[in-house]
Amino acid sequence: MLNIGQPNSYCIFSTHTTPVAPLRQSPRPHWLTIVSYNVGMKIAYQFKLKPTKQQVLEIDRWLSMLCAQYNYLLADRFDWYEQNRSSINACPLICHLPQLRDNPDYYSQKKTLPALKKSHPWYSEIYSQVLQDIVKRVKLTFNRFLKSDVKGKRSGKPRFKVRSRYRTFSYPQMKEGCLQGNLINLPMFGQIKVILHRPIPDGFKVKTASVTKKADGYYLTLSLEDATVPTIKPDFNPESITGIDVGLKEFLTTSEGESVAIPQYYRKAQKHLRTIQKRVSRSQKGSNRRSKAVKQLGKQHKKVADKRKDFHFKTSKYLLTKYDIIAHEDLNVKGLARTRLAKSIHDASWSSFLSILTNKAENAGLLVIPVSAYNTSQDCSNCGVKVPKELHERWHDCPSCGCSLDRDHNAALNILNRAEGHPVLKAQRLLCDSRIG
Ligand SMILES: [Zn+2]
Repeated sequence: MLNIGQPNSYCIFSTHTTPVAPLRQSPRPHWLTIVSYNVGMKIAYQFKLKPTKQQVLEIDRWLSMLCAQYNYLLADRFDWYEQNRSSINACPLICHLPQLRDNPDYYSQKKTLPALKKSHPWYSEIYSQVLQDIVKRVKLTFNRFLKSDVKGKRSGKPRFKVRSRYRTFSYPQMKEGCLQGNLINLPMFGQIKVILHRPIPDGFKVKTASVTKKADGYYLTLSLEDATVPTIKPDFNPESITGIDVGLKEFLTTSEGESVAIPQYYRKAQKHLRTIQKRVSRSQKGSNRRSKAVKQLGKQHKKVADKRKDFHFKTSKYLLTKYDIIAHEDLNVKGLARTRLAKSIHDASWSSFLSILTNKAENAGLLVIPVSAYNTSQDCSNCGVKVPKELHERWHDCPSCGCSLDRDHNAALNILNRAEGHPVLKAQRLLCDSRIG
């Protein structure tokens, strides 16, 4: 059994191949979070901010002003729908007709900002692009509500935000040289001290910046871009392949029969989370004790999230140094004859792991393949006969070929077998053969 990720041995993985972020073996500071996702050569780094007491007040003031504006713009959009749509296809003979106006959209709402600054002069203390970003946010949430996204999913009705849940403001365009030493220069806000736990990679420019208030302090997220770096061409050995299956007991099992356990420290942190959750629900609403517990709960939630992300990064790194191609069940194929229900608890964590794994693989020129999840735990990986088993049956015993394996190991082998027939792999194999031949 593997034990990946002791909490005190920590290293940073760079998500791209430019040799910039050095591997560090120092103990992990509690606040260190890595947010790294990329599209082409875009990456995001998150740093802890060290604002002064005055700046903390100022950030909070900005957040509450922006929150009010966000709610106002949202209400403006709802109002239009209430006034301009009739729930039935006819309206009563005598009814109140409001003054007709155009449906507010991104542009018309953006145009209201100068008037807002006149009527509420304190809004002119906020940088204009930060204010415009609010309009964009309202547009995005409203669009997601009215129209479906690419996959046909629609999100629920946008909700008004409570001040305490409004936590981020963003600068959509940052100028060059905004980061000087350990100071970030935010227009109209001023310079804030940043803890640069890792350097900005060479050639990367800061594109956007956002300030977020979290349970344990203030954070700066920078999105970085390097236009000069070409996209990486895939280069992998088609023989170095494995299949992975999510287990109920283990985090994952590979087709080699190796399993990665969910680390103990993560389980412990989750248990602690439940304890605090109980404390919150038992305490009286509005009491001092409750607000203290809520604060503690927020911190613990963040701790759990950090630990999980850290574990996902380490597991991805481990798998990608060992294998070139990793096959997994396709999560998008749902509603099949698969007992997904019991695994649904894992699913959320599993999909975030897969996105980290896929990103890391892409950047290294390696491959992650999703395959159909249909009957992976029922079919025999050796002869293909369906061997029905209940969820509690942990062992696969094939009556027709005598194959005897751990249930998850059998599923991982099935996933591997399915990936072998993947068109990308076939093409790569042909390419390899033609090179040799
Ligand atoms: Zn069999």
